Amino acid sequence: MNIGALPGGLARLEFDNRFTCELPADPETDNTRRQIREACYSRVLPTTVAAPTLVGYAREVAEALGLSEKDCTSEAFAAIFTGNRLLPGMDPHATCYGGHQFGTWAGQLGDGRAIILGEVVNAAGERHVLQLKGAGLTPYSRSADGLAVLRSSVREFLCSEAMHHLGVPTTRALSLTLTGEQVMRDVLYDGNAALEPGAVVCRVAPSFTRFGHFQMLAARQEHALLKTFLDYTIDTDFPHLSREVPEKDRYLAWFVEVSRRTVEMVVHWMRVGFVHGVMNTDNMSVLGLTIDYGPYGWLEDYDPNWTPNTTDAAGRRYRFSHQPAVAQWNLVQLANAILPLIDEAAPLEQILSDFQEQYVSLWQTMMAAKLGLQRFEPDTDADLFTELDVVLQLTETDMTLFYRRLASIDVDGSGADALEALLDAYYQPEELQGEVRDQIEAWLTSYLGRARADARERDEQRNAMNAVNPKYVLRNYLAQLVIDKAEQGDYSMVYEVLELLRRPYDEQPEHEQFAVKRPDWARSRVGCSQLSCSS
Ligand code: AMP
Ligand code: MG
Repeated sequence: MNIGALPGGLARLEFDNRFTCELPADPETDNTRRQIREACYSRVLPTTVAAPTLVGYAREVAEALGLSEKDCTSEAFAAIFTGNRLLPGMDPHATCYGGHQFGTWAGQLGDGRAIILGEVVNAAGERHVLQLKGAGLTPYSRSADGLAVLRSSVREFLCSEAMHHLGVPTTRALSLTLTGEQVMRDVLYDGNAALEPGAVVCRVAPSFTRFGHFQMLAARQEHALLKTFLDYTIDTDFPHLSREVPEKDRYLAWFVEVSRRTVEMVVHWMRVGFVHGVMNTDNMSVLGLTIDYGPYGWLEDYDPNWTPNTTDAAGRRYRFSHQPAVAQWNLVQLANAILPLIDEAAPLEQILSDFQEQYVSLWQTMMAAKLGLQRFEPDTDADLFTELDVVLQLTETDMTLFYRRLASIDVDGSGADALEALLDAYYQPEELQGEVRDQIEAWLTSYLGRARADARERDEQRNAMNAVNPKYVLRNYLAQLVIDKAEQGDYSMVYEVLELLRRPYDEQPEHEQFAVKRPDWARSRVGCSQLSCSS
């Protein structure tokens, strides 16, 4: 398996696998599906594939690992990051976690198609865990195949990088490779299965620890290991939390921080119009990173009830507007998991109830920033935001375009002038009449008054708005265009869109075609507005 020259950067990767060094392993080493006990992970090798081929890599992630273009385009790179070749120092394993799926405890889940290769510590001392998604069966694969397809891997690769450049905490993606094998998938679970190209994404994060890791140990009542795991997590991922305090206080300080990071992450999602789609507790990172890009989507027309996930169509548990409440619910599950280490429920309950206040406060600050206001003024802005939410739903309004265009209106003009400047954001401009028009203009008139009162040069206000209201997001149809081409063997758009989304807040006149409303063909196309967990 280890043949061929190893380019310098790859040869120099230094592994320091703390997770497997410090935490107990499942003693069994064969790759059969099983429930494990008193262990955090199982060692497992990626499955060898037919023909590893690089589709794309993210150069900033590569740089953070000390890898050059030459390293990333080498044959060895494609082999390593599809799982065909191991480097000295790697210690491949899949971790064990459980989780609540759609509100119901699902028991052991685990890395069913993710294999951690190892932890790289770079020249700056930063820890980067390398994880292959789609590299074959693990003891946690349950009834599934351990694989991933090009369609969902393009979506994960591009979206995690897009989110990073938008300033949203996220896991990163080093590479997207093809395995040269075909994988059977039934995209809409309707009996129409078809073969799709197999692919692997190498994800990178300081750790992939999820709420569900703690839940699993608590559910098994393995309290000693739960404590070991929490101590380990704090020491590696939260080393700034003081050891000089009583243990329980340290655990509570940790929970405060996890909660705060979760609030911040969700506020970012609300800012950019991101709908995760599967906020199960196994898909929640304790570092507050957006993780597990599956049936996610971006709000095009502003509809707080929208979810891209057809698997969730009935209850819409994970709809855009419900994300903060779900995040809090998920934190309740994490609190329950660590309760045996704290004994008292009251301090955890206090932190959970602070969540609401913290969320509202950060959300208000975020909304004020989107509107170019220096701060949230309760007397005027509470109503302004509530009315905006109504106004955005009177007729289909493109969320991204609306906020971006808002920066260009003349604050000394009238509400009617402002609406003219926003026309591009409306899917049915012919509906801008009568009551609808009156209500939008009335809101714009109040907004203009408020913007003028904000006592900031309009230029400064505009720049501030353009720094939080992206011009370019990974619109659902845009990802689909990349996928359609990639499935034909043309990967050029992967880099084109990656490049575009590296500067989401900049005007890029050469890419104006990617900053327009969703075209009509994409309104109800599978992959654009309807996605499932099949990936
Ligand atoms: P998700 O909610 O999509 O993140 O996945 C839920 C669980 O199913 C996790 O334990 C995954 O590892 C597992 N899973 C999803 N897809 C596959 C697959 N194709 N093969 C094996 N396990 C999978
Ligand atoms: Mg998951």
